[in-house]
Amino acid sequence: MHWKGRQVVQILKIDGEFAGGIAAVGDGISLIIYLIITLLSGNTGDVLERLLVNYQNTVPHEETAGEKELSEFVSVVLADTEYVWTEVLKDYGYQYEAPKLVLFTDAVNSGCGIASSQSGPFYCSGDETVYLDLSFFEELQSRFEATGDFAIAYVIAHEVGHHVQNLLGILDQIQEIQGQVSQEEFNEYSVRLELQADY
Ligand SMILES: [Zn+2]
Repeated sequence: MHWKGRQVVQILKIDGEFAGGIAAVGDGISLIIYLIITLLSGNTGDVLERLLVNYQNTVPHEETAGEKELSEFVSVVLADTEYVWTEVLKDYGYQYEAPKLVLFTDAVNSGCGIASSQSGPFYCSGDETVYLDLSFFEELQSRFEATGDFAIAYVIAHEVGHHVQNLLGILDQIQEIQGQVSQEEFNEYSVRLELQADY
């Protein structure tokens, strides 16, 4: 085991409401809406493809005991992926640079715009950061009955997989072919991209 312990960056809570791409603006909360360039058009659950809203005025969130445990677990898994990818890429002459990781509740202001917890976990290539919403992990256990640490570790490893795809230029390649091929063909590439991240 490698406990290099990459620091979990921060836990944020948005002081306001956010639902389905349209934000309800609370007092004193400024908000900018903009489109982000779509990356994936397959039904992947990643948020990069969506219309996102850049929402400001995040306020620090007090971590609960359960969240603390979860964030510690997340940082250990992340450290593990760091170790593995550093070794694997070294063999191919690449130097691995680990992604950042942000845990959030409700919504987060990412380098790819705002994402609500409805978006699910995602990787933003713009700021090379994996975003994980804590409520998703609760949902994993309650709704999908995917209990245990493996499901969480799997999700993290998948998003880190997208980071590796980014480092190797695969995400850029996929983005380039979008518009040059049919929607059907592009969906096919998107599915492959997801499977490769799984792998
Ligand atoms: Zn994915």
